[in-house]
Amino acid sequence: MPEGDAVYRTAARLRGALDGRTLTRSDFRVPQHATADLTGRAVLITLSRGKHLLTRVEGGLTVHTHLRMDGSWLVTPAGRRTAPGDRVRLILANAEWQAVGVRLGMVDLVRTGDEARLVGHLGPDLLGADWDPDEAVRRLRAAPGRTIGEALLDQRNLAGIGTIFRAETLFLRGVWPWKKVGEIEDLDGLVALAQRLLDANKGHAGTVTTGDRRPANATWVYGRAGRPCRRCGTRISRGEMGMRPQERLILWCAGCQPR
Ligand SMILES: [Zn+2]
Repeated sequence: MPEGDAVYRTAARLRGALDGRTLTRSDFRVPQHATADLTGRAVLITLSRGKHLLTRVEGGLTVHTHLRMDGSWLVTPAGRRTAPGDRVRLILANAEWQAVGVRLGMVDLVRTGDEARLVGHLGPDLLGADWDPDEAVRRLRAAPGRTIGEALLDQRNLAGIGTIFRAETLFLRGVWPWKKVGEIEDLDGLVALAQRLLDANKGHAGTVTTGDRRPANATWVYGRAGRPCRRCGTRISRGEMGMRPQERLILWCAGCQPR
């Protein structure tokens, strides 16, 4: 599932292809907006908010998209055919470029003034210009009995962390994922580290938390279930956190992150 760093990069690619250019085609392949047509309007900017994307269009409209589990935006020269079988949900194109939204989890078209209805619930964006660590910590602390693992994935607390950065952050802080938020001594330090990890990864594909970009060496625990911990040699554990059907993957080292 794309996390905040990947969504940040997607926004940058969409800005490069669409900003300041007039749409020559818009094709919403979702029932609720099937008749919408943005042709003739210039795209102003695409912004990322956590894992959400907001593409603002001339005339006070915003296209809201979310990649969810496996969505993506493909940017290609205009007129390029999309791969057969791609589940295209939205196409935005100008004379030079086309952006094809494939398997998008959400596609909405709203007034720009109503963006808050879609993203107003989000906590501070770890990669936003307005990142506010104190507010993120305040929101986390508001539910001290919650597990830190679940609280970090709740985008209402802070926006942008998914299962990879959750697992890596908790490992690096030596925190057992099921520890209660209220029992964590240095929540500020934990939040600051999560932000640094995302920020360090926003400029390139793939996730590197070890400082070693080689794929087999790039992470501490994520993708390493059953393999020896790079620090202590204990086999990395794999489990699930959260209530069904929202349970999500967690990896941790029982040696470095004791109960
Ligand atoms: Zn370990």
